[in-house]
Amino acid sequence: MVLDQPRTPLVERELPEPEPGPGQVLLRVRACAVCRTDLHVVDAELPDPKLPLVIGHQIVAEAPDGRRLGVPWLGWTDGSCRYCLSGRENLCDGARFTGYTLDGGYAEWTVADERFCLELPDEYEDVHAAPLLCAGLIGYRALRLAGDAERLGLYGFGSSAHLIAQVARWQGRRVFAFTRPGDLETQAFARELGAEWAGGSDERPPQELDAAILFAPAGELVPAALRVLAKGGVVVCAGIHMSDIPSFPYELLWEERSVRSVANLTREDGREFLELAPRVPVRTEVDVVPLAQANEALERLRRGEVRGSLVLQVASSASRSEAT
Ligand SMILES: [Zn+2]
Ligand SMILES: [Zn+2]
Repeated sequence: MVLDQPRTPLVERELPEPEPGPGQVLLRVRACAVCRTDLHVVDAELPDPKLPLVIGHQIVAEAPDGRRLGVPWLGWTDGSCRYCLSGRENLCDGARFTGYTLDGGYAEWTVADERFCLELPDEYEDVHAAPLLCAGLIGYRALRLAGDAERLGLYGFGSSAHLIAQVARWQGRRVFAFTRPGDLETQAFARELGAEWAGGSDERPPQELDAAILFAPAGELVPAALRVLAKGGVVVCAGIHMSDIPSFPYELLWEERSVRSVANLTREDGREFLELAPRVPVRTEVDVVPLAQANEALERLRRGEVRGSLVLQVASSASRSEAT
C-alpha cells in the first residue's frame, strides 16, 4: 500500500521486490501494527516524508534465514553526532525513520538495517508482537520518563495506554485512565486492565496524580492534566505531533510541576521492553485486518473506534491464536 501524496488514500500497487543495501536485510512482512503516527504522516502533519512512501513502523517480519525480526520506528542513525555519542541515539541529527523517511511495513516485503532490528519474544504470535514495537516500547519510554510516580494518569486509552497500564500495575503503580468524554466502553476496558478509576478527560480523578502521560494528540490536554497533578508532578507528551497547547496560567506549572516530551526510541529501550513484556506478561488486545484494508483501518483509528491495537495481517505465520 503506497502513499503517493499526503492527504490522499494509500494505493494498492505491485512494487518490485526491494533491494537490500549495505547492512540491510530483505524481510518478508508478516504483520504490521497501525500507529497514530501513521495518520500524522498521511495527514501531512510531519514534514518531508519520503515520497512515494510505504508507511508502517511496527513490523514483524521473517529474514531469509528464517529468523523472526521486529522493525521499529528508529531505522538508522549516523552514529557520529553528539547525541549518538552520548547515548541518546533517539535524538540523532541524521536519524532515519521507518515508514516515514524509509519505506515501512504496509507491504509484503521490506528492507531494514539489521543493526536496528529487534528480536521478538517467542511468547507472542506475529499479530500480538507487532504492537509491542511502538505502542509498547515508546509507551515504555514515556513511562520511564514519568519517574517513580505512584499515581499515574493515562490520557487517551488506545494502543499504547492499554499496554503501558499493565506494566504500570505490575510495577505497583496506581493507574487512572482518561478517555474522550462519554466513551464508557473504553473506560470499562481500562478498568479491565487494572485502572482503579476511568473517566472523561474533562473529569477530575478522585486523587491528585504524580504523573500524566498524554497519548492523545490534543494540546488542550496539557493544561487539563496539569490541573490534576500533585506538586512536583510531570506531564509527559508521548506523541510525535500534537495540536497547539493553549496558554495557561503559570500557577498550573508552579510548585515544580513540569511538562516534557518523548522523542523516538533507542535500541536499548527496545531490548529492555521486549525482555520485560513477557515477564509482566503484557497482553496485547488486537483487532486484525488484512493489509488491503489499510485505509479503512486508518479511518477507524482516526475516529477512535479501536479497542487496543489495530494490526494489519500481511502473511500468515504457521500458527495463529486469538489471545496471548
Ligand atoms: Zn547521530
Ligand atoms: Zn508509532
